[in-house]
Amino acid sequence: MKYAFAFIVSLLIAISAQAQALKPPKEPAIDRFLRYAKIDTQSAEDQTTVPSTKKQLNLANLLAKELKEVGAQNVRVSEFGIVYATVPGNLADNPKVPVIGFIAHMDTSPAVSGENVNPIIHKNYQGGDIVLPKDPTQVITVAGSPVLKELIGDDIITADGITLLGSDDKSGCAEIMTMIDTLMQNPQIKHGTLAIAFTPDEEVGGGIEKFDVKGFGAKFAYTVDGESLGEISVETWSARTATVTFKGKSTHPGTAKGIMVNAMYAAADYLSRFPKDTLPETTEGRVGFVHPYAGVIDVEESSLKILLRDFDLSGLDAKEKLLRDMVTQTQAKFPEVKIAIDVKQDYKNMKEVLKDFPELADNAFEAARRAGVKPYIKPIRGGTDGATLTFEGLPTPNLFTGGTNFHGKLEFNSRRGLEKTTETLINLVQIFAEKRK
Ligand SMILES: [Zn+2]
Repeated sequence: MKYAFAFIVSLLIAISAQAQALKPPKEPAIDRFLRYAKIDTQSAEDQTTVPSTKKQLNLANLLAKELKEVGAQNVRVSEFGIVYATVPGNLADNPKVPVIGFIAHMDTSPAVSGENVNPIIHKNYQGGDIVLPKDPTQVITVAGSPVLKELIGDDIITADGITLLGSDDKSGCAEIMTMIDTLMQNPQIKHGTLAIAFTPDEEVGGGIEKFDVKGFGAKFAYTVDGESLGEISVETWSARTATVTFKGKSTHPGTAKGIMVNAMYAAADYLSRFPKDTLPETTEGRVGFVHPYAGVIDVEESSLKILLRDFDLSGLDAKEKLLRDMVTQTQAKFPEVKIAIDVKQDYKNMKEVLKDFPELADNAFEAARRAGVKPYIKPIRGGTDGATLTFEGLPTPNLFTGGTNFHGKLEFNSRRGLEKTTETLINLVQIFAEKRK
């Protein structure tokens, strides 16, 4: 026991000595982040092209240029605005280490303006709410963002109250770039080959469909697109969408007696049957929901669109059965209305695949711990680009970025958030090299 303790102590000293011996990157993560945040890369819904907005290419081209400057190879921007690059491994037996991919997205959410982002550094934060200067009604409160309590003494980065900050996901871009920069400055850090990608249109979907999984060449990958320090995600929703149609018969209301069948009442009856404890507004954590989110109400034909979300396929099946049973009940009450339900698969929980690769989360946990960050698993109540890649044969969990309050004016990250995430990434590539067989 005593020897084990002595061993652990000497190991810790060795690890911290190595960490201390690192040469800093040419440019700190925060400086990169501030540069990327000022570039407007807002994506747009319902476009037929990828990228959905041309301005995303401004950041794509800058990242490609900077990748070349820090020494990455095979740097290219695809016709869809995806930036790809390779960081060669530096081990003699390199092929025994799997190629690990790192992916961040360049676009920002269409929900809030990303034009003229003016990042503000609140140096040496001493606690309390943060009022954003250009719109004093925009306040980051400790009550709303309790993570602030852990950031005393840190430099917090916010927008000015008019725009979002774009920490989602320019933090991920800056952290991956700074990881590469640091690795290039420190050839003593041993690692396998790394595949790098920066993608457009994550916020609107569609960008990832143009991703060249084969050309990327990674065996595993991580999206760096999560929130607070330590958050690691290996689970997303399993998702289906149901469309329920109600067919009635329309006719002139003046002569409708005995002829008109008004489909609207059947649709209303169906809506009234949704259990109140299975809705987005009444669920959280690991509990799934059904969510009627759009519809057409008309005499001749009404229709409803409904999201089904659950972490488990059995739970999703149960929700589908619920919706079908409700159709049977409404049909019995409105025999003259023709009711049909059609259910489509949207995406599946990436856990269905990632459960066979537990080392991906294990290594990420170890990497975070070595950076002094307490890791934890957070299931994502949504989908990720990584989930799409996972089902295309590239298992891809999601890692934290240090950021908070995505998609809004109250978004923030911090110097430590950026630095600790970068450190975690550097640790992660080393751990894969240490564990090579
Ligand atoms: Zn994101």
